Amino acid sequence: MRVIGLAAAVAISLSACGGGTSSIAAPSPSAPAPLPEVSSTPIEQEAVSPPAAPVVIPPPVPAPSAPSTAPVTTTPPSVAPAPLAGRVVVIDPGHDGGNAAHARDIATQVDIGTGTKECDTVGAQTADGYPEHALNFDVAQRLRDRLTSAGVRVALTHTDDTGWGPCITRRAAIGNEAHAAAAISVHADGGSSSGRGFHVILPAPVAGLNDAIVAPSRRLGQAVHSAFAAATGEPTADYLGSDGYTVRSDLGGLNLSTVPKVFIEMGNMDNGTDAARLETPAYRDRMAAGVAAGITAFLKES
Ligand SMILES: [Zn+2]
Repeated sequence: MRVIGLAAAVAISLSACGGGTSSIAAPSPSAPAPLPEVSSTPIEQEAVSPPAAPVVIPPPVPAPSAPSTAPVTTTPPSVAPAPLAGRVVVIDPGHDGGNAAHARDIATQVDIGTGTKECDTVGAQTADGYPEHALNFDVAQRLRDRLTSAGVRVALTHTDDTGWGPCITRRAAIGNEAHAAAAISVHADGGSSSGRGFHVILPAPVAGLNDAIVAPSRRLGQAVHSAFAAATGEPTADYLGSDGYTVRSDLGGLNLSTVPKVFIEMGNMDNGTDAARLETPAYRDRMAAGVAAGITAFLKES
């Protein structure tokens, strides 16, 4: 099994669909890089978030009741509860189909703990116009269906691809309020056209905010990374990060999470090879299968 070099300090170029281009150095456990100061400004997400429908997590599927005429038996029950039954996972399909028509709304600045950032962004697209929000929502639905079939209770941060937002602060809050065992933001990148591959984004510790979820998020990220690679054969990103990982403190979705959470950037929409795969429904199903396998592996060991 390959040892993943997460501890290495990694210079990260941020050209992702999350918006903005900047560069940070990932912290190293042996020599932690200084992190941006945490703002003391209260998060005013209620003032900036669009109206959001309450998140409804489907109740667990009830076990079939025993027939009233069941024969008396001396054999003890041998059916163990499914390890995934009733566990809660929140899936965050990155961006939203209505964002482009709500430019002013999604440009609202929100507090992400290490600064401010746009409420949401439009996202990337392939050269022939397949938008990232549609890709993300499609994979999120496939992922939801697979996890639900395994007994997991799933909530999405938005349940259609026609509205705008919710703001990144709200996307994090939905996972927190659901007390999710795991949360994942599903994205694809808009990087250099010459680079391809997938990567997983792990939370950098932000003092006083997400310290408790950094370690379990790393385990979640490693499980998703391994299973996604196995299911898809997609190489790890060759244009940023290290071994298909980046560590970031500029994403509200990770800074503000109180539950284990990662982002996956499933491929680079600006790259022709990746774009052709991402536009293929059968391949999107393989990606969803890979992410589902990673999440369930994490749930079974946590
Ligand atoms: Zn994105």
